[in-house]
Amino acid sequence: MTATTIAGVRDTDRVDEDLASAFGAVIGQANVLTSFDQRLGYSRDRLPFAVFRERAGEIAGAVPRLVVRPANQDEIVRIVQLAKARNVPVIPYGNGSGVLGGAIPLGGEIMVDTRRLDKIVSINPTDAVVTVQAGMNGADFEQQLNEAGYTSGHLPQSIEISTVGGWLACRGGGQLSSRYGKIEDIVVGLKAVLPDGTPLEVRPVARRSVGPSIRDLMIGSEGTLGIITEATLRIFKMPAVERGVVLAFPSLQAALDSARLIMQAELRPTIVRLYDRVESDERTKDIALFKTKPFLAVLQFCGSEPMVTAEQSMALEIAAAQGGEVGPSGPYEHWKQNRYVAYSQKWHDAGYFNDTIEVTGNWSTIPAMYDAIGNAVRAIYPGIHFGAHWSHVYPEGACQYMTVRLPPMPDDQALPIHQKLWDTVQQLTLDHGGSIAHHHGAGLFRNPWMKRELGAGLAVLQSIKDALDPGNLFNPGKIGLRAGPNAKDIRRD
Ligand SMILES: Cc1cc2nc3c(=O)[nH]c(=O)nc-3n(C[C@H](O)[C@H](O)[C@H](O)COP(=O)(O)OP(=O)(O)OC[C@H]3O[C@@H](n4cnc5c(N)ncnc54)[C@H](O)[C@@H]3O)c2cc1C
Repeated sequence: MTATTIAGVRDTDRVDEDLASAFGAVIGQANVLTSFDQRLGYSRDRLPFAVFRERAGEIAGAVPRLVVRPANQDEIVRIVQLAKARNVPVIPYGNGSGVLGGAIPLGGEIMVDTRRLDKIVSINPTDAVVTVQAGMNGADFEQQLNEAGYTSGHLPQSIEISTVGGWLACRGGGQLSSRYGKIEDIVVGLKAVLPDGTPLEVRPVARRSVGPSIRDLMIGSEGTLGIITEATLRIFKMPAVERGVVLAFPSLQAALDSARLIMQAELRPTIVRLYDRVESDERTKDIALFKTKPFLAVLQFCGSEPMVTAEQSMALEIAAAQGGEVGPSGPYEHWKQNRYVAYSQKWHDAGYFNDTIEVTGNWSTIPAMYDAIGNAVRAIYPGIHFGAHWSHVYPEGACQYMTVRLPPMPDDQALPIHQKLWDTVQQLTLDHGGSIAHHHGAGLFRNPWMKRELGAGLAVLQSIKDALDPGNLFNPGKIGLRAGPNAKDIRRD
């Protein structure tokens, strides 16, 4: 690959006109995108590695053969049937906000852009559920729910740039997850199209005991097992009261212990965010209290007034016993105002190599895991920026969300370091009994660690994939599953 790759691809690129008109007959020619520039826009998601390559004038993956934009499930069924008949691999596309390369084509795929499936189908106040089409933008969805007096409780930082279907496909987590749960706790039912074109429906019923959960087979499948077309989600009444609290702790251990004890006391603040020293300092520079108690935590409580008051006072009692002291609200207000901002873009624009890696650990191992990763990362590149916070907490453990940032340097120097950082973080997470991914999914970039993560489970997953998709046509080469023939290896090719 050279810096002229994109120009090179453009020169040799040919659209398969026969294929384009066959899909046009299904969904209308206007909904088949064929121009190079349109298709180039679908050649990557927000995987930082792909952003680095593009900045250098190259593409990490491939340009898709075509992009199709269906309007409903019936059209998706017919697209999948046609793709199967022509042996064409397909990648479902939400809004390309994934950060692990799940939506990156590796050669020969067409993209199925779901964004014309963009409506709330119904709200059922009695059952407290909403049914929504999979391609609906997250922020539009939440706004319409708010106007009806509800929230979905799933508010990822990327809400403005992601779709509901993408949340399910990536098994995502929203910022209020400590209270409302992750997406798998919120989804009650769904519809999807399987790789042979069969429509699948998991009816939205409160619970069932009929073998392994088919719903959970789709959640987190990242487009490899089905195209999700509709979801029924829990909804929650908009809280009457929302109150944020800033706490200063004398040590990271004290902050971690507080979060653990709050969750183990069965309290459910909507937000529990703890920051390491680096990330605390960035947010508390001018606040005197943090000179002596330098570790920042932000909590938020929502609900009715008596509930919020009771929950807050119990949580603060637990925090005080660990040395936590209430501070001025500035860091909470700052978080609230910037909760949907994508910070990495400004670093990429300035030539830095910025990436985030979120993993899961249990409370008993998080301190050692954090120290081991921090020490190893700084040994790899002493001038690196490394910071962490813990923002999705459970009675058993938490998500450790780390930012690593290398200063501007030539790509051939930075990319091997970047790879080594990922290798080290993922391996040390596994060494400490953690999971390599908390909510961003596995996509393409986490393939090398999937066997170590899942063990025999990966063969189970591959068997399911082979049974459902014998032609390996649904998003091949993702979440550790077999790639298609001639698939590009983004790290080598
Ligand atoms: C700044 C930023 C902040 C983020 N914050 C969060 C966060 O707080 N929480 C979080 O969970 N994630 C977060 N993410 C990651 C990302 O936004 C989520 O993974 C999101 O769910 C992806 O949705 P999307 O619609 O953009 O999907 P895409 O990126 O288009 O696709 C992601 C994967 O899902 C598959 N897919 C998409 N739609 C469907 C469908 N309908 N059926 C089957 N497969 C499908 C694709 O093939 C691909 O494999 C963040 C990303 C960024 C850039």
